Amino acid sequence: MKLIVVVGGVISGVGKGIATASIGKILQQYGYSVTAVKIDPYINFDAGTMRPTEHGEVWVTDDGGEIDQDLGNYERFFGYEIPKKNNITTGQVYRELIDKERSGGFLGQTVEVIPHVPNEIKRRIKESGKDYDFVIVEIGGTLGEYQNLPYLFAAKSLELELGKENVAYVLVSFLPIPHNIGEMKTKPTQLAIKLLNEAGIFPDFVLCRGRERLDEVRRNKLEQNANIATGCVFSAPDVKSVYRVPLNFEAEKFGSKLLGRMNLEAKKQPDWNTWRKITETIENPEKTLKIGMIGKYVDIGSFALTDSYISVNESLKHAGAHVGVGVEIEWVDAKQIEKEGTDVLKDFNGIIVPGGFGGSGVEGKIAAVKYARENNLPFLGLCYGLQMAVIEYARNVCNLGNAHTTEVEPKTPHPVIDILPTQKALMEKSEYGGTMRLGAYAAVLKESTKVFDLYKKTGRLEKDGNKVIQINEEFRLGKNTGTLVLERHRHRYEVNPLYVEQLEKAGLVFGGFHTRHDGTNLMEFCELPNHLFFVATQAHPEFKSQPEDPSPLFLGFVEAANSFK
Ligand code: GLN
Repeated sequence: MKLIVVVGGVISGVGKGIATASIGKILQQYGYSVTAVKIDPYINFDAGTMRPTEHGEVWVTDDGGEIDQDLGNYERFFGYEIPKKNNITTGQVYRELIDKERSGGFLGQTVEVIPHVPNEIKRRIKESGKDYDFVIVEIGGTLGEYQNLPYLFAAKSLELELGKENVAYVLVSFLPIPHNIGEMKTKPTQLAIKLLNEAGIFPDFVLCRGRERLDEVRRNKLEQNANIATGCVFSAPDVKSVYRVPLNFEAEKFGSKLLGRMNLEAKKQPDWNTWRKITETIENPEKTLKIGMIGKYVDIGSFALTDSYISVNESLKHAGAHVGVGVEIEWVDAKQIEKEGTDVLKDFNGIIVPGGFGGSGVEGKIAAVKYARENNLPFLGLCYGLQMAVIEYARNVCNLGNAHTTEVEPKTPHPVIDILPTQKALMEKSEYGGTMRLGAYAAVLKESTKVFDLYKKTGRLEKDGNKVIQINEEFRLGKNTGTLVLERHRHRYEVNPLYVEQLEKAGLVFGGFHTRHDGTNLMEFCELPNHLFFVATQAHPEFKSQPEDPSPLFLGFVEAANSFK
């Protein structure tokens, strides 16, 4: 196993995640297998209970982990599923040790921060990396933070075990350009390197993030003042698209330098053609579609928003690149629709109602769905979006006035969206995260639906659930056999089976469902056959979209939006 450790200097949010993902992508291009581990030094056990507006999106893995969004970047760049064990938090490390101590696993020893904490961290990293040529470990936070120390210690200790030639350190640092001076400053990065040195670590590579490119003068200055080998300080300026980053690193020969540092040869020559083409379409499209994203945003502001729905944004870009168009997202506050009506939707080529929780803005979302349905406007509903579509159809087509979800209206006369009692019991028994349905679940699709056609055309139909079985959790497969699709979930409520027949009779087609072991069918997809594109899913397909392999539903949605008007 070869280890690459990525740390961040000067500020948080410097782009370590994209740097880590890009390094992995580059190594893959040279023929090596790669995985990545994200370390979050906080005490939370996972990101499940964290506020998305503060922390960004909660990423969901196939095996049901609720994780920091960086795992999403790794998957988008590497092109395969990363399991939840690849996210380590301090909370998990301590819980493991305390549980072991309580059950007598330490046989009377004193359990101490050194060596037990780094040992557990090392065990976890080795476990994640064991089947790969490389494991890249991204240590969250910024150098100098107290809570990072055990992780730097563990890295150093792994270096001793694996040998110096098998471990490389990458510092991603920030170089500010203060307004009053107007020049890029290297000092904060020099100090970050000094902090790293205090942990006994000398960075092999420094990636210099900044508004602009690093010039030669400053590159030399950093090399000299911090004893970095010539050619190992890289420029990492702001980019239009994150998919540009590995291309930029390669332009400075990062890959061959890294392999050289680790005494390795290229196993194959990189071929960046597809990746470059996708990146160029995302950066400079000939035509741009306007997509309205209907959510409850009032007090968040558009800045935090981009991060809260990062996977949806990226999925739209991937699909756009394949259709050959750019996608511009406009955030529409559902509460504004409640106050001012649906006029604001007139200029869009399509709308998305993404995932969400709680009652705020719900009537605005339902009004937006109605507008899309009645005006042949392409609509994609994601999780809560499907629930909104079902409520809208029940109310306005099936004449079930006041139909609602019991999440918002527990006493509704028509609980078309509800928690299923059997589901609750089942979930409690198997103890996976209380009442949430989390992670990938198999669904069988009805042929002759738009959804089926899209999954088929994109090669996403699975035979006999091979992949589900790989996750090794029987309940994910359920009783579904034959041709399946796999999408990830993160929700509590379901379409109430008691209303399915009535909704279908009125024209709403449920094109796919998951059959649980107890025989209950959970609706996974719905669509309207006579609409340009009116498709919703109970899942979160945005967690399975990559630049080179866009999500089928996003692809169908963008194609339809491109043909609208
Ligand atoms: N609030 C809904 C539920 O829990 C939808 C959740 C979501 O959109 N992720 O079922």
